[in-house]
Amino acid sequence: MPQERIYNFSSGPSMLPQPVLEEAAADMVNYRGTGMSVTEMSHRGKDYLAIFDETKADLKRIMKIPDTHEILFMQGGATLQFSAVPLNLIGRTGKADYAVTGNFSTIAMEEATKYGDVNVAYSTEDRNHTYIPAQEQLKLSADASYFYYCSNNTIYGTEWKYVPETGAVPLVCDMSSNIMSVPVDVSKYGLIYAGVQKNMAPAGMAVVIIDKTLAGAELPITPKLLGYRLMIDSDSMNNTPPCFTIYMLGLVLKWLDAQGGVEGMSKLKAAKAQILYDVLDDSKMFRAIAEKEARSDMNVTFRTASDELDAKFVKEAKQNCLETLAGHRNVGGLRASIYNAMPAEGVEKLAAFMREFETKNT
Ligand SMILES: *Cc1c(COP(=O)(O)O)cnc(C)c1O
Repeated sequence: MPQERIYNFSSGPSMLPQPVLEEAAADMVNYRGTGMSVTEMSHRGKDYLAIFDETKADLKRIMKIPDTHEILFMQGGATLQFSAVPLNLIGRTGKADYAVTGNFSTIAMEEATKYGDVNVAYSTEDRNHTYIPAQEQLKLSADASYFYYCSNNTIYGTEWKYVPETGAVPLVCDMSSNIMSVPVDVSKYGLIYAGVQKNMAPAGMAVVIIDKTLAGAELPITPKLLGYRLMIDSDSMNNTPPCFTIYMLGLVLKWLDAQGGVEGMSKLKAAKAQILYDVLDDSKMFRAIAEKEARSDMNVTFRTASDELDAKFVKEAKQNCLETLAGHRNVGGLRASIYNAMPAEGVEKLAAFMREFETKNT
């Protein structure tokens, strides 16, 4: 027998719901009597198109995506969207506003400078990205083609608790690490995207949700497959899409539906995060890294007073089936990523382990 499944606190790729893995395994060799695996099907055949259409329809329903917006499945993960966004959208005025609140928004902002003028509307670098700016602090340009931000900073453990108000300037948001953990009013956004490997599916693609009126203004140098207009017109099938990842997303969406959808996830994730933040606030050994008002419910960053004790914690946690708890090298310390698929018991076990570790080591 294989070893029991661990609680994996990895920031991504990360846990998938066990029933999803079991269903995929059961269907792996012969999908519903088709005599083949989903990985072997033509992406234009009727069996695969049924999976594709249902997945898209489920995502549209679960995220309440209005008809004004289109769902795209694009390869290259979230990072290729750092390029696709400016290539497609910055041409309107030649300028864009970026809020820089962590590693990924920094890289996205730097990428955009290749294609137009970038105004940094705010940077939280002064306090190593431990906080989120308030609306009044954002330096907005009236003539920006779009305003860009990252709603959850995976590495630093901070999360925007409000949707920035930008008037007529379209909002663009990287939701890679908190998509479908909290209800989102999609109509407020010009474009939302997410690399799927944190909260949606195995790695290999980004989901893009775009206001259709924004498509078709790409710079002439835009690589063909990064053009949103073409992707809309070809229903993400100009070439072979990441078929299996889309199928897995479909299974995750069915699981999510059964848990009460995004609303259900939202209650659960708040309760899970609270368990860990309560331990941190009670502790004399551990302290939270992010400032209180900005704490993420998806990535809980914390540390002890020493690197040695942090390392001991990671090592001993692993012996208790609690894995991947080291912080990112930019921050150090410890990080527990608790996305939708992390069961509450995993978080409770981690909380109990933290308390026990503190007692034993003081
Ligand atoms: C993980 C992550 C990315 C990078 O995702 P890739 O799919 O590896 O390119 C970008 N933004 C955020 C917020 C992330 O968490």
